[in-house]
Amino acid sequence: TMEIEELQQPWKTDFYWELPKVELHAHLNGSISSNTMKKLIAKKPDLKIHNQMTMIDQGKKRTLEECFQMFQTIHQLTSSPEDILMVTKDVIKEFADDGVKYLELRSTPRRENATGMTKKIYVESILEGIKQSKQENLDIDVRYLMAIDRRGGPSVAKETVKLAEEFFHSTEGIVLGLDLSGDPTKIAPKAKKEASASPKAEAKAKALKAKFYVPEIPNQNKETQILLDLLPDRIGHGTFLNSCDLVDFVRQHQIPLELCLTSNIKSQTVPSYVQHHFGFWYSIGHPSVICTDDKGVFATHLSQEYQLAAETFNLTQSQVWDLSYKSINYIFASDNTRSELRKKWNYLKPKVLHF
Ligand code: IMP
Repeated sequence: TMEIEELQQPWKTDFYWELPKVELHAHLNGSISSNTMKKLIAKKPDLKIHNQMTMIDQGKKRTLEECFQMFQTIHQLTSSPEDILMVTKDVIKEFADDGVKYLELRSTPRRENATGMTKKIYVESILEGIKQSKQENLDIDVRYLMAIDRRGGPSVAKETVKLAEEFFHSTEGIVLGLDLSGDPTKIAPKAKKEASASPKAEAKAKALKAKFYVPEIPNQNKETQILLDLLPDRIGHGTFLNSCDLVDFVRQHQIPLELCLTSNIKSQTVPSYVQHHFGFWYSIGHPSVICTDDKGVFATHLSQEYQLAAETFNLTQSQVWDLSYKSINYIFASDNTRSELRKKWNYLKPKVLHF
C-alpha cells in the first residue's frame, strides 16, 4: 500500500515535503481531504453528495460565491460531534504527514439542531481531536482559532467572543484567538468592540489576540481601512489591498500577510499564479506566510503551495527555507513555542538543505 500512497502523493518525494512548515491559515471544514470526505459521504448516503461537490480539481475554477456554497454542502456532512472529532484528527494527521510542525486551525463554532450539537460541543470536539492527536505523538503542535462568520451579524459575533473567552482561560494556550471570516460584511469593527467591551476588558482583549480577515471583495477600500485601523495581528489573503494608502498602512505597521495562492486562483480572486500579490510583497521583504486556506476544497497541500510559489517567483531553496523559518515569527503562540520551533528548524536545516 505504501507504493500506492506514494503514487497518489508525488509531492512527498522532495525538498518541499521535507521542509518543516508552519500553517497559519487553514479552515477546518475546508481542509477535509477526499479520503476523509469518502468516509463522511458513506455515513450519509441519503444526502447524495459526491466528491466533486466538495472539492475543485486541478485546473478548475469556481466563483467565490460557488466556493461558499461548497461549504454549505460540506457542513451537511460534518453535523455531529463524532464527525467533527474525526475530521479534526484526520486533518491534523494530514498536515503532520505534509511536514507541518505547527498548525493554527480555525473553525466556526456551529450548532446543528438535528444532532443536538451545540457550539460549545462543537468546540469541545475540536479540542478533543487536538488532544487525541497529541497523544499519538505526531510531530505537530496544533492550536485553535475561533472563527466568527461575519454573515451571522453582531449577535453571533458577541456569542463567539464569549465562547472564546471561556475556552481561552481553560485550555492553556490551545485556543489562541479569534478569526473573522465568511462572506465580507460590516460587522467586523463591532466584533472587535465587543471583544474589548467585556468585563476586565483590556487584559482579556489583549490576551485574545484578535485575528482579522480583510474583505475579499474589490472596491471596498473604506471598509478595508476600518478593519485595518483595528490593527490586526495578521491579515488573511490581503487580496484587495489595492490602493496605495492601504498598502502603505500595512507596510508601515508591518502586519504579516497570510497568502494562499491556489485558493485565490481557484476562487478567481487572482487571475493567475504569476499575477499573485505574493510576488509584490515578497519583493519588498514584507512579512508573508504561505498558507493553504482550504486544502480539501482547493485540492492542495502546504508543500505544494511552497513549490508553486518558488517555481512561479524563482526562489532558491535557501530563500524558500528562509520564508518558512520566518513564518515562525508570526505565530500566535508564546515566545517559548517560537524558540522551540526555531530549534527544530535549525536541527533539520542541514538534512533538508543537504549542506
Ligand atoms: P469552518 O469554519 O471549519 O466551518 O470552515 C468553513 C468556513 O470557513 C466557511 O463557511 C467560511 O466561513 C470560512 N472560509 C473558508 N474559506 C474562506 C475564504 O477563502 N474566505 C473567507 N472565509 C472562508
